[in-house]
Amino acid sequence: MEAGQSRARRSKTALPHKKGGTSHDGRAVEKVEQMAGGKGHILIERLLNEEQLNGKCGLYAKVTLEPGCTLGVHGHTGETETYYLLSGEGVYHDNDKSYPVKAGDVTFCEDGGTHGLDNTGDTELTFMALIIKG
Ligand code: MN
Repeated sequence: MEAGQSRARRSKTALPHKKGGTSHDGRAVEKVEQMAGGKGHILIERLLNEEQLNGKCGLYAKVTLEPGCTLGVHGHTGETETYYLLSGEGVYHDNDKSYPVKAGDVTFCEDGGTHGLDNTGDTELTFMALIIKG
């Protein structure tokens, strides 16, 4: 899926979810159910809006996977995606390999690659997601 393109249009909409729909300083937090066929839901806090992304960047956001939730495996074409894990632990699916990841780790999905992430811990797994176009 071309993440960040279709979903970016909703960035100004604060969807309700159980954490109140905003971050600690008021940014909208979007709840997406079964993201890319994953289990449960993800929470996306977009740090740049579409105007600020300026067509150069697909997404710059903090993403939260609550315990038991996964972000399903999906591909990127014409863009790359980097995750920087802020907290928690999980299993990252990197094309046909899977390996454990934890806070401080960086993952990189190349143009044409696939990736996914499972929260396998009992705490929130949070990470920064950056999609660079081109
Ligand atoms: Mn992705």
